[in-house]
Formats: sequence, structure tokens, C-alpha cells
Amino acid sequence: MLKFGIVILGIFSIHCAVADVADCLTHAYPNITSVKNGTIYFKDGSSLAVGEVSNQPFTQRLKNASVADQLSQRYSLDFTPPKQYQDAGRLRNDKFFKALYGNTKTQVQNNLVNVYWKPGNIKIRFNQQNNASLQLQKVGDEIAQNPKLTKYVAKSLGSFNWRTIAGTNRLSSHSFGVAVDFHLPKAQHKYWRWDGCTTEDKVCPYPSSLLADSEFLQVVKIFEKHGFIWGGKWASYDAPHFEYRPELLI
Ligand SMILES: [Zn+2]
Repeated sequence: MLKFGIVILGIFSIHCAVADVADCLTHAYPNITSVKNGTIYFKDGSSLAVGEVSNQPFTQRLKNASVADQLSQRYSLDFTPPKQYQDAGRLRNDKFFKALYGNTKTQVQNNLVNVYWKPGNIKIRFNQQNNASLQLQKVGDEIAQNPKLTKYVAKSLGSFNWRTIAGTNRLSSHSFGVAVDFHLPKAQHKYWRWDGCTTEDKVCPYPSSLLADSEFLQVVKIFEKHGFIWGGKWASYDAPHFEYRPELLI
């Protein structure tokens, strides 16, 4: 039995970047039909090169990440303060998300549905493509099973919003309706830019309070279990932010 457990753990610890990228991406996203010879083929008929992992400085990679870059940083399931430039999930290729969730604001809007979010008795607009809304529903239902946990994520600060990331001209993951921000309790409600930081090259000290509350970390684990990453694990911490990124959790 123990041996079986170890084997299972081994399977789940495989990371997209080192595993078979084709298997990984097609498993994570139903709208990806295949990946052949370094090209991703999407259900909408479009295609995109996986590309190479860049050796440019991190701030440059953020601006023009390939899909290979996007997969190159491992999202840790541990709760330890991240090192500088540990921002798994912040490297994003816009074309990849457009092909998955909608190329324009209108196209994304047409893919949005209301998710009933039990922890706050509210509705959250989320993209139904690639099971994103379905997975968010599972997160909320599971959190709501433990009344101690609901207070952390009862208040949404917004999900869909076709906009660029603060301080950049890159589209935010909120543009695709696959991210949601919550008004967290004060100890957890931290964002690097609110602390006066503007560049990944000189990031603010990581707030230890983010990892101090074991009940809150249970909330994070439930999100991760269903394919969401938490912005609180980034060196450029964005703790209110949860984003559907199943390819980083396979
Ligand atoms: Zn956000």
C-alpha cells in the first residue's frame, strides 16, 4: 500500500517542463487537440509554436514569453518563501490564452458563465472553456464544507476584466476570465506593488504573514487541488489572486 502511495506521488510530481509537453498540455486543456513537432494545435483551428526557453533576463522574458518559457518554472506545492524571480505562472504567452479562451474581449465575454460561489453566497463570472468554471465551482463547494475556511474568500474583488497588468502593456489573466481576486483578511491581503515595489529586479521582502495561518493555507491547497495557482507564492507576491493554470499543477 505504501509502495503504491509512493508511485502515485511520483506521477503527480512530474512537471510539464520535464515531462512530455504534448501529454501535459492536452491533459490540462481540452481545447488543445494535439502537440506535434513543437507546434500546439487548438480546437479553434489555430496553432502556436511551443518555442524555446529563453536565456534573457527575467523581466525581458515576462514581456515575450514563449510557451516553453511559460512551462519552465516549477510551481511549488510547498509553503516556503519564494526566491527572487520565482514567479511560476507569471510567464504567460498571450496567444496561448487567446486560443484557449477567446481572442477578443467580446469572444471571452461570450464564454463567461456565472459560478455560484458558496463561501460568499455570490456569483463569480468565469470562463467555461477548458473546464475553468467547473473547477472553480469545485473549489468553492469544497471550501464551503468547512465553515472555518469560508471567511477567507467570501468577498470577491473581481474576476473577468479585459485589462493590462499594472505597470505593463501585457494582458492580465483576468482578461480571459480565468482569474479571481479576493478581499483577504489583512494579514494575507498583500500585493508587491502596494508595498511600493515596481520591478522584479528589486522585489520587496516577502511578507511572512502570508504563510503563517494554517487555515488560510488549507484554502490555498483546495485551489491547487483543482488546478489553480496562488499569486501569494510569487516573489512578486499577489496574494488576493488565484488563477486557473492546470498545466502547472500536473
Ligand atoms: Zn488578480
